[in-house]
Amino acid sequence: MIEANALSRPITELKGVGSKIAERLQKLGITQIQDLLFHLPLRYQDRTRLLPLGSLKPSQECLIEGTVRLSQVKFGRRRSLLCYIDDGTGSIVLRFFHFSKAQQQQLEQGVRVRCFGEVRNGPSSLEMVHPEYKIIASEGIVPVDADLTPIYPTTEGVHQIGFRKLIKQALDLLNNEQLLPELIPPQAHFHEAARYPLSDAIRFVHQPPPDVDITLLLERKHPMQRRLAYEELLAQQLSMRQVRIQTQRHKAPILLSDKQHQKAFFNKLPFPLTFAQQRVVNEILVDIALDMPMQRLVQGDVGSGKTVVAAIAVLEAVAAGYQAVMMAPTELLAEQHFQTFKAWLEPLGITVGWCAGKQTSAERKQVLAQLKVAEISVAVGTHALFQDEVVFNNLGLVVIDEQHRFGVHQRLALRDKGRDANSFPHQLVMTATPIPRTLAMTAYADLNVSVIDELPPGRSAVTTAVIPDTRRADIIERVHIACQDKRQVYWVCTLVEESEHLQCQAAEDAANELKSALPDLTIALVHGRMKSLEKEQVMSAFKAGDTDLLVATTVIEVGVDVPNASLMVIENAERLGLAQLHQLRGRVGRGEVQSHCVLMYHPPLSENGQARLSCLRDTNDGFVIAQRDLELRGPGELLGTKQTGLPQLRVADLMEDQDMIAVMSQAADALLDNTPQNSKLLVNRWFGHKIDFGHV
Ligand code: ADP
Ligand code: MG
Repeated sequence: MIEANALSRPITELKGVGSKIAERLQKLGITQIQDLLFHLPLRYQDRTRLLPLGSLKPSQECLIEGTVRLSQVKFGRRRSLLCYIDDGTGSIVLRFFHFSKAQQQQLEQGVRVRCFGEVRNGPSSLEMVHPEYKIIASEGIVPVDADLTPIYPTTEGVHQIGFRKLIKQALDLLNNEQLLPELIPPQAHFHEAARYPLSDAIRFVHQPPPDVDITLLLERKHPMQRRLAYEELLAQQLSMRQVRIQTQRHKAPILLSDKQHQKAFFNKLPFPLTFAQQRVVNEILVDIALDMPMQRLVQGDVGSGKTVVAAIAVLEAVAAGYQAVMMAPTELLAEQHFQTFKAWLEPLGITVGWCAGKQTSAERKQVLAQLKVAEISVAVGTHALFQDEVVFNNLGLVVIDEQHRFGVHQRLALRDKGRDANSFPHQLVMTATPIPRTLAMTAYADLNVSVIDELPPGRSAVTTAVIPDTRRADIIERVHIACQDKRQVYWVCTLVEESEHLQCQAAEDAANELKSALPDLTIALVHGRMKSLEKEQVMSAFKAGDTDLLVATTVIEVGVDVPNASLMVIENAERLGLAQLHQLRGRVGRGEVQSHCVLMYHPPLSENGQARLSCLRDTNDGFVIAQRDLELRGPGELLGTKQTGLPQLRVADLMEDQDMIAVMSQAADALLDNTPQNSKLLVNRWFGHKIDFGHV
């Protein structure tokens, strides 16, 4: 029995853990002794060998030793103590900004010192700034550490040494008990990494033996680390599955109509669906005709036509007698969907309502009242739809557009919204951010995925140029020519994202500059600080072709659809990530004319900036861009762990461990088939208190 294990006792039974420490540890999710064993080292310090000074490279963290040749205080911008040491193979400078008289005397010429620290490039040679050091006997051999030193994630009031002591106690208990329950049944071993015993792996990572392959360990590629990564990834997969299983236990309204509305809708729609759209529509209609909540993600590159797919699902919900909501991450996009839905649905006698943050309270009151009694069948809006005061009469379907802006938690919150007693609305989430397959398998393990992998016919690929802002005048001339050709143009201003205010300011400045440079053009400005009515007017004027040039902040990033716009200039493009640039660029190339995008940068361009901009220049394929983004930024940044609601991983790595991620779905199936009771235990072991999906 697992409960009988000493390791499941509270940490307060360990030496040195009083109520105060226990409270602090709890913040890290550590309450049982076993939790300490799963508090894994972030990395290791290697104090087991001395590196020759002649071999050092910048950013190496290492143990060195040498004789002080010269020690002097320098009075530069900051007073500092410099000690030049050498060991016969080379030399290095130790630099101290804070030092006592005693230290200065101690580090005198001729003494032998041993130091641990990070090597850096100094003004004239390699340096270590404030290394840990000790003076050692000038003769004979002084032993080095036998083991690597693990470095743990710490918390206020419990530091490295504290953790080492506690974990040592937990490991001693583990050695007595010989028992850390294996929760992964052999049937769920789909990778060689899974084969090693868990207890061995845990002991190993906390106390790597002296003969360990240090390079493997430091690169986190040792089989014992991989064993833990396998288990962690499986736990993550299972946590997402739990969400899904819990949802599937609930009922959902059956959304199935006689298709009269659909017929009328298609009669008016000016284009036929693409094959891919048709396929995805069918997948959705099958799902929502079941009495189990749909949880489906639609992935489709920018411009692939997701809105109409959503509209068809919404239409089916309404035709079946239920309400539906469509939610977008920005007010601008929500407004646009509102207009589109009104144009498509109102002729069929369907009422569409609007719900956003910047509404007058009278307007809002009215919409809320109408929603409550189902006088409005379809609500379009922003996250304002989440609020408690929003009450639906009989919500059958929730559509969330551009899902990457909303996390798991919000997704769940909105689903809970329409719940009554035992029934949930169906849920459709749509994203234009294609994420690499392995990542999708983790981030969206609670969803079924449909892909619109085809663009509507007649689109020509956007050509992209990367141009320094020293050629700004040429670019402005190019804008001029495009507008004289009756094309419309976006001019996008970016700035460090934290400051919306500065971004709006930059857009205002750019608009003024362009107005004086191009007096014959009609130029408008849109940014996040404008009132919604104002924004709406500017956007509809642009859409109607009354404006030649729209200067905007990144508010236009998602979803805005003006087919006649065929040129986009993005200022300071190097400041934006690949995904965001791809989204922005997706605003052009929506009609049949050849479209262009100018990525203007401020030189000099960093290596990474160069890689990003050339990637965009070379391809329009969202999946290729996403893969490149993953390589350049890493998965954490790409998905934003916060945004996805995925818990932080301790040992696994979504990039490095793709081979394991690829088998996780199978492994989770096998575990749930063979030892379903272990699923919860495994999730708890790794993510304990950090996940609160369980409130369903
Ligand atoms: P996204 O997938 O980026 O949200 P939208 O739904 O905004 O794309 O569609 C982009 C444009 O393509 C819109 O103007 C839309 O009306 C149009 N569109 C969608 N589907 C088709 C189709 N099958 N044929 C032609 N045009 C289409
Ligand atoms: Mg869209």
